[in-house]
Amino acid sequence: MVPDNPSRRAFVGGGLALSAAQTIAPQTPGALTADQVIERIRQNVGVPWRTQTVDKIVLGDGATPVKAIATTMMATFQVVKRCVDAGRNLIISHETPVYMHQDDVQPLAKDPTYLAKKEYIEKNQAVVFHFHDHWHARQPDGIGVGMAQELGWEKNVDPKNPRMYGFPGTPLAQFAKNMQTKLDARTMRVVGDPKMPVNRVATSWGYMSAIAMMARPEIEVLALGETREWEVVEYVQDCIAAGQKKALIIVGHVLSEQSGMKYCAEWLKTLVTEVPVEFIAAPEPFWRPDNPTA
Ligand SMILES: [Zn+2]
Repeated sequence: MVPDNPSRRAFVGGGLALSAAQTIAPQTPGALTADQVIERIRQNVGVPWRTQTVDKIVLGDGATPVKAIATTMMATFQVVKRCVDAGRNLIISHETPVYMHQDDVQPLAKDPTYLAKKEYIEKNQAVVFHFHDHWHARQPDGIGVGMAQELGWEKNVDPKNPRMYGFPGTPLAQFAKNMQTKLDARTMRVVGDPKMPVNRVATSWGYMSAIAMMARPEIEVLALGETREWEVVEYVQDCIAAGQKKALIIVGHVLSEQSGMKYCAEWLKTLVTEVPVEFIAAPEPFWRPDNPTA
């Protein structure tokens, strides 16, 4: 997800039930709780904590003592198991572990997959914290910072707009190939003329569907996570057919935000020193028929 996408899902849902007066230091060595870690995040993320936010514990109990912390882009069941196996029982996940951004589990109340995941997490005394809104709201956006680091784009960023990058006219095919290599992406997709020189790239990591953004003349190449094929993808094809220089680079949602959570682990290590903090990658979900991958 992205913070200023006009079509993004509304930020609703309860905030954390922690008061500002609550201590954030562990009572005894080794007894740091998930709630206490989250309170440190609240106090250090650099933006006021919102009253309406998805950033809260979705599965598990906040009073659970933390053995170690994992950050991840998406706490799939596979990722949760890897975290538990590695002894990381506080899992900080950019996307919800329960499939719906607002974390409304009512429709899942009898769903066997959801229940299996929930029971596994509770049995293993793990906690999943959904950390989305405030990591994006941080200035600059924590996801954007991590992605720029991973792509090696830090020197290319537009000082006036941290979501815009400048490049020396690299042909689109080569530019996309470089991104694919850096992100180790199996299923990236590109729309546009492979020979088109890439000079300016806008980024919208995560999901976007803003045709108005794509219509802006200064946006030539847009790199994003995912979008609807019957909206922006169709629109860009028509822009090209109408004689404009436009292109899309569709990375996939997980890989388009993954490195932002790698950076989150580095940031969190500066706040939490009592227990280990580690990034655990979520796997790219898709494979190609010419290269099947379990
Ligand atoms: Zn996001």
